[in-house]
Amino acid sequence: MTHSPVPQAAAAPGGSHQQEQFLAILSREEALARFEAALFPRPAVTQLQPLAAALGAALAEDVVAPVDVPPFDRANVDGFAVRSADLAAAGEALPVVLALNGETIACGTQPLLPVKPGTATPIATGGPVPRGADAIVMVEHSQPADEAGRIEIRRAASPGQFVSYAGSDIARGEVLLRAGTLIGSREIGMLAACGIGAVPLARRPRVAILSTGDELVPPGEALRPAAIYDVNGAIVAAAVAENGGEPDFLGAFPDEEAVLERAMREALASHDMLILSGGTSKGAGDVSHRIVPRLGEPGIVAHGVALKPGKPLCLAVCDGKPVVVLPGFPTSAMFTFHDMIAPVLRRMAGLPPRADHAVEATVPVRIGSELGRTEFVMASLVEGADGLVAYPTGKGSGAITSFAQADGFLRIEALADHLRAGARARVTLFTPQLLVPDLVLIGSHCVGLDRVMAPLVREGMLVRTLAVGSLGGLAAARRGECDLAPIHLFDDKTGTYNEPFLTPGLELVRGWRRMQGIVHRPGDPRFEGRFAEDAVAAALADPDCLMVNRNQGAGTRILIDRLLGTIRPDGYFNQPKSHNAVAAAVAQGRADWGVAIAPVAAAAGLAFIPLTEEHYDFALVSARKQRKGVIAFLEALASPGSARVIAEAGFVRA
Ligand code: AMP
Ligand code: MG
Repeated sequence: MTHSPVPQAAAAPGGSHQQEQFLAILSREEALARFEAALFPRPAVTQLQPLAAALGAALAEDVVAPVDVPPFDRANVDGFAVRSADLAAAGEALPVVLALNGETIACGTQPLLPVKPGTATPIATGGPVPRGADAIVMVEHSQPADEAGRIEIRRAASPGQFVSYAGSDIARGEVLLRAGTLIGSREIGMLAACGIGAVPLARRPRVAILSTGDELVPPGEALRPAAIYDVNGAIVAAAVAENGGEPDFLGAFPDEEAVLERAMREALASHDMLILSGGTSKGAGDVSHRIVPRLGEPGIVAHGVALKPGKPLCLAVCDGKPVVVLPGFPTSAMFTFHDMIAPVLRRMAGLPPRADHAVEATVPVRIGSELGRTEFVMASLVEGADGLVAYPTGKGSGAITSFAQADGFLRIEALADHLRAGARARVTLFTPQLLVPDLVLIGSHCVGLDRVMAPLVREGMLVRTLAVGSLGGLAAARRGECDLAPIHLFDDKTGTYNEPFLTPGLELVRGWRRMQGIVHRPGDPRFEGRFAEDAVAAALADPDCLMVNRNQGAGTRILIDRLLGTIRPDGYFNQPKSHNAVAAAVAQGRADWGVAIAPVAAAAGLAFIPLTEEHYDFALVSARKQRKGVIAFLEALASPGSARVIAEAGFVRA
């Protein structure tokens, strides 16, 4: 293969030059059109593959039946092979007696004796019909006539009765399966019935996958400070396999141009496609996109696509092979892969487009969108009052958990600046089949909840929990989109939790209490051995003491503001959204104290000064009380097993 040593300036499809492509942001449609125009049409590489390897692949050519199925006239029941003419007059009052021929035709037995008029031959289901016979009489419709072994039949048989004729299922020479057919277990059955042991398949494209970034550590190894685990390697490899490719993950590479270029050249030489992730923006150390133009013609066809997330996507074709640099953020990488790369990969693999893997759903809340960019929004599907409801589950770019909860994504077109509440949207599924959950909880998340639900999940119940915060959960419950909303909302007026927030149609199910307290590093003399108020006073007295706050609207924030009164100490405006973030900040020394729940403090190895108990309860949608999943959940919650796991998690059952 040829490598051009300098960035080439050849015109790409569409006529613009390399230089301009780096500057121009293309629309999604334009980028895809250029990518496809540079790749297709291309000759299909067909290989004869063993039947066992064909599952999930698509046939590259028509398959013609080489034999008849069944290969001979076959008995469909256990009984006697007869001449129907012998029984034409038979009836209840007029039994016909037939003499038995001296053989029994079992499956796999070739008949030797003809069935002559007045005779019958015993035959098993699947046995070949002997010469002369044209019908089978069921053994139940005969009875022994005499000692000589003759049989008596009291009903007529129509010609062809209980006979499957040769070729009646599949006729030799007929097209059994058309090119492009996706091979599932039924197709494998048809091929096996015709004795076909190998089928022509498009060769699975071999796809080399590289992650790039100095910060990446492979899963399974210990994390260095400031490092993160390589997510894209695993996720892209899996998505490649799901879409007909043969993934070959080559590892995570540092942002070193020479090292990376060597790896990319080697990978491209031995694979049909190259997918990198990271290093595609124009930041310092982003090198992969600089190497691509040197790898072959025509090089980059799109760099910068009006997608959100996914803008830095880089699409290239190097001497006929697709080279893709996905954005580094795992969510961005996946959207762009599923939307722009999967269709191309599937086409190379001879697979049909994934059009069938999409559903229509209603969007329950308004989703804002940037004008001019095609926006992807992850969606989690639940059953609403009339049909599926698609919940946006984005937690901000880089959130990998929203992926696991999402069933797919919807697309807001570039020309729209929002999707209104109640709009219908098409959700592209991440997995081939959609499973609608038996139990849906939307609201605030708690580790105790996972433990209470564990037995339900083990029993095979499909449970979905969406963490949208207490208020978001209440709104979902009012719209009837969940069964229960886990909430912990403090009402300042009454000084109580949760109950004051219920509206008609919702009822309270008591959950558990979580001890909240001041967290600090063990041994810190400003806090060690003090009660809460003393500890706060000591913190405020030390100008070097840095706090970490919580977000507005959190129950914990109300508590902190009560502790502080009107004082705004250093760190007050650092306002993360979770107990874990507070614990991490204190444990890693980015702050000296904050307020979090006891189990989280313990898990982070922090010391804990108790403040007050927070109530974590459930707003139950009364109309959904009788659902199987709800009944099972309420039983599980009330069970002694739950009391135990809740206590183990460090909570107190209400
Ligand atoms: P980059 O495009 O290289 O600037 O990366 C953008 C963001 O994605 C950075 O926060 C990276 O740390 C992150 N990132 C890049 N590659 C990966 C990967 N393979 N797994 C997880 N995160 C990644
Ligand atoms: Mg990077």
